[in-house]
Amino acid sequence: MVTTVSVWILGDQLLVRHPALLAAEARVGRAAVTVLLVESEARLAQQRYHRRKLVLILSAMRHYAAALRAAGYRVDLRRAPDFATAVREHLAEHGADRMIAMAAAERGTRALQHALAHDLPLELLPNTQLLCGQHDPLPGTPITRRVVLETFYRAMRRHFGVLLDDAGAPLGGQWNYDAANRRPLPRTVGVPPAQQFAPDSITLATIDEVQQRAGVGDAAGFDLPVTHDDARRALAGFIAGRLSRFGDYEDAMRADDGVLFHSVLSPALNIGLLEPLEVIRAAERAYHVGDAPLNAVEGFVRQILGWREYMYWQYWRIGEHLVTANAWGAHRSLPAFFWHGSSDMHCVATVVQRVHQTGYAHHIERLMILSNLCMLAGITPAHVNDWFLASFVDAYDWVMVPNVFGMGLNADGGGVATKPYIASAAYIDRMSDYCAGCRFNPRIRHGPDACPFNVLYWNFLIAHEARLRANPRFGPAVLGLRHLDVAERAAVQQAAIALLAGWSGEPPP
Ligand code: FAD
Ligand code: SF4
Repeated sequence: MVTTVSVWILGDQLLVRHPALLAAEARVGRAAVTVLLVESEARLAQQRYHRRKLVLILSAMRHYAAALRAAGYRVDLRRAPDFATAVREHLAEHGADRMIAMAAAERGTRALQHALAHDLPLELLPNTQLLCGQHDPLPGTPITRRVVLETFYRAMRRHFGVLLDDAGAPLGGQWNYDAANRRPLPRTVGVPPAQQFAPDSITLATIDEVQQRAGVGDAAGFDLPVTHDDARRALAGFIAGRLSRFGDYEDAMRADDGVLFHSVLSPALNIGLLEPLEVIRAAERAYHVGDAPLNAVEGFVRQILGWREYMYWQYWRIGEHLVTANAWGAHRSLPAFFWHGSSDMHCVATVVQRVHQTGYAHHIERLMILSNLCMLAGITPAHVNDWFLASFVDAYDWVMVPNVFGMGLNADGGGVATKPYIASAAYIDRMSDYCAGCRFNPRIRHGPDACPFNVLYWNFLIAHEARLRANPRFGPAVLGLRHLDVAERAAVQQAAIALLAGWSGEPPP
């Protein structure tokens, strides 16, 4: 008969109602449950990470341990060389008859859990952090069938009853308000200050510790929520202060503000301090009480119930070969300026420096500046993925791999996103104020003042003309090539060769 049970909770599973905790308690009662939380040296050093990400995870785990102890659980928070050592030592020391854990969201740790379950009394529960782990909206879809975001998102909305009327139709009569959500941001529109959460003594000690470790960026100035209460305050602050304009300016960029009307909730969501459905319901409520318009609320819900879930679903559906995909034959090294942030390109320098400082850039800067540049320049997808994983505070394999290989670089040839997200300087100029402060000219295609985005964009179109023309969602853009005669095509190609030769691909410092 089982008498004591251990529950192993990973650092990105800090849920209030963790399924393994609930299961253990139901079986043996709270007093017989010990929770294991592991600070694994191997995991922390698996690769370079942004120091703010290390502070976030370690401090949130330490706060979680304190909250569990206060709620009457025994907690074994231990530093160990690796997860396997910690689990074995914990079981030997605590004499638990059984250990329960929730399957990891990412592939590597889940494989390790399965390996441990072969020779230890470890029971794995399905991962329910993501809503599609609770309900697969399109079960049994063969990998050969292309599933677009819209199909997946509508199925999720129907199942979870989000933004629907009594007849089950979408509120407002439309599923999608994207067309209304692409406005540039006029200077006259003020942006509320970003929310900050002052570090307490646990977080301050963690910052000191992490500053001594190898990593990217600086942990000083860390201001993210690390408890459930603070994460809920961050959510409430976003709903009250920024959600109403999220839709209108979702794609806008501004040189002096890297957040604008975005939520910055991904760091908390990705480690379980917030759950997707509570965020979605909070946004829905804001619409029903008249605090935010439908285009804003639907746009925001689409990010969480749509894109976030879809990425996780595709990560597990497409499987491991996503990380070796390279459909556009990109083989150049990542330019060194991604690591040091020094570049004449105003948009790139600003965003990279901000990422080094904070570990954050909003979606359009990630997509239309950083990964756009990498795709146009033909940077090896794995190098791009490594840089994103090292640089962002919300980076985890399950969300990074489909975003970088699928959405950002189209390296899977269109399994995740139906078209390559590439654009010239015209897009960046329209959606931001970066170009006004840049030494390059966003309207020139080649020559010493030509914007590198233009040189590389037209070079890319020339190099891949036939293939792009065949893509119904991209084909019309290629028609612009008819304005380039043979001489201009040659000039663009020469400019691209010279530009890329000047970008040294040094290894990270
Ligand atoms: P908001 O704009 O406020 O959106 C709300 C929430 O929607 C986000 O918090 C996030 O949870 C979710 N969301 C929106 N788009 C996506 C998406 N494409 N995939 C997953 N979730 C989404 N997101 C990560 O959480 N971790 C990553 O490592 C990551 N890497 C990315 C790399 C690239 C190349 C690209 C193009 C996107 C990446 N994203 C990643 C998705 C998205 O850019 C971030 O989730 C978002 O910018 C986080 O900021 P926010 O919380 O202010 O988002
Ligand atoms: Fe960026 Fe080109 Fe605009 Fe400069 S001109 S800010 S490099 S898009």
